[in-house]
Amino acid sequence: MSSLCKTYFENENVSLKDYYSDNIYTWCTNCGNYGIAAATKRALVAENIEPKDTFMCFDIGCNGNGSDKIGGYRLHGLHGRVIPVATGAALANRNLSVIASGGDGATLSEGIGHLVHAIRSNYNITFLMHNNCNYALTKGQASASTRQDVPMDSSPDGTPSDTLNFMNFVLSLGASFAARTFSGNVQQMTEVIRAGIRHRGFSVIEILQNCPTYNKDTTHEWYQDRIYDTIEIKDYDNSNFDSALNISKDMSERIATGVLFANPNSVPFDQRLENRQNYSTELVDEVKSYNQISQELFSRFI
Ligand code: SF4
Ligand code: MG
Repeated sequence: MSSLCKTYFENENVSLKDYYSDNIYTWCTNCGNYGIAAATKRALVAENIEPKDTFMCFDIGCNGNGSDKIGGYRLHGLHGRVIPVATGAALANRNLSVIASGGDGATLSEGIGHLVHAIRSNYNITFLMHNNCNYALTKGQASASTRQDVPMDSSPDGTPSDTLNFMNFVLSLGASFAARTFSGNVQQMTEVIRAGIRHRGFSVIEILQNCPTYNKDTTHEWYQDRIYDTIEIKDYDNSNFDSALNISKDMSERIATGVLFANPNSVPFDQRLENRQNYSTELVDEVKSYNQISQELFSRFI
């Protein structure tokens, strides 16, 4: 086993076994979620992050069905609301690595306002956007990222609305970290998720995910024919915002993957709060002491 592979499975303080769950996977055969779950666990092990130091939040959707397939602290919330939950956790305890997962249906509809404000606030969260270009859990309705005019189960003539290019959208909002990867490439996904975890700020990672059950358009093979890694571009500089914006545009012929943009001067939200600069404690600790005081006060009156 190479030392790189070994790091994915076993590290100084943690191994893959620590993220093991007894629950049985319920995803369809060949679903991209299997690769995403494997890459997420490997990234956490490779970053030597123990389950006690991470918090994973899941939106509703097929991605959310992975919430009990991984060990550690997890919360499976409401549709489109994964970012607010993750934001609360990240602000309450800055020592946690907070990872939020959401699909294209939730993120680009109910959750789109949360995405916009998380990007401009630069909360310290790694956001995995599982983009399978449909509402898969509810049986294949078109989402905002479904390609225009492609027939889906509930829209056999296709949808006439323009397709939303997610990566181009998040870059246009000034994301401090924007990456794109593919559910069929576990190695690249692992490295991209690791980079997202290390980034200080809101790390947006679009995962181009195949959904063999409901999406017969953007299949595993369709992506394989189009994707390339930015490391193949000579002298590509992922601190150059304009380069990232430029290569994020094309989603039909050639699709760029990898870390498209990482702002080396990113300042996360918690570091922008002047009144918290000198605090060495975390909000979760402070709430405990407030609870204690209020319990003592309460006990005087009963
Ligand atoms: Fe995966 Fe699609 Fe099946 Fe959902 S419906 S589990 S996304 S293949
Ligand atoms: Mg989806």
